[in-house]
Amino acid sequence: MNRYNRQRTRMIDTQLLGRGISDERVSKAMAAVPRHLFVDEGLQDQAYSDSPLPIGSRQTISQPYIVALMTEALELRGTEKVLEIGTGCGYQTAILAELAERVLSIERIASLAFRAQRTLDSLGYYNILIRVGDGTYGWTEEAPFDAIITTAGAPKIPETLTGQLAVGGKLIIPVGDRSSQTLVKVTRLSEEPDDLKTEDLCGCRFVALIGEYGWKD
Ligand code: SAM
Repeated sequence: MNRYNRQRTRMIDTQLLGRGISDERVSKAMAAVPRHLFVDEGLQDQAYSDSPLPIGSRQTISQPYIVALMTEALELRGTEKVLEIGTGCGYQTAILAELAERVLSIERIASLAFRAQRTLDSLGYYNILIRVGDGTYGWTEEAPFDAIITTAGAPKIPETLTGQLAVGGKLIIPVGDRSSQTLVKVTRLSEEPDDLKTEDLCGCRFVALIGEYGWKD
């Protein structure tokens, strides 16, 4: 076993299982994806540490536990079409691609989107489509989605996104101010666009969701 595999196994045992991540599919996905390949070479030794890391353009790869928690909350079973807002380096995208049928992901910073695409192509993920743009509009041509995950913090839940959920679909989104948020899970209960169940999961700190229905730049 090489040193990254060992570090990854330890990350799963201590940071995920040790903190209550119980969906085996999520821990298997996180065991399968080489997180160190999503960060700069100089940071690869820290890739399995219990923290977010910089990925350039003042953005971050999220802490492993937060990736696991958000993914588990989506309750994926393998047949879903998922929308991700905030591709970043593509690590969360890869985890979703392990667990769902198709993943569509939107990133507003072109250089990050291109690098993520290259990494994901090199790892052989063919069920991912990435586009550059403002994800707060969602992806209307591809809606509805069984799951939507937003990996940047919003001032409020964008109706553009809840409106693109399938019935029974789930949206996970950090909501709050620019420095701290609450991770919120929204489930669409019926065809009525505002028939939504909202649950608070935990406190969190994400970079800002910048766009028409997020924060202004
Ligand atoms: N999911 C990533 C990972 O696995 O490492 C982490 C993403 S990072 C915490 C949040 C990303 O959201 C940043 O790359 C940022 O540029 C992007 N972002 C912010 N506002 C956005 C918007 N309106 N549309 C698309 N991407 C956005």
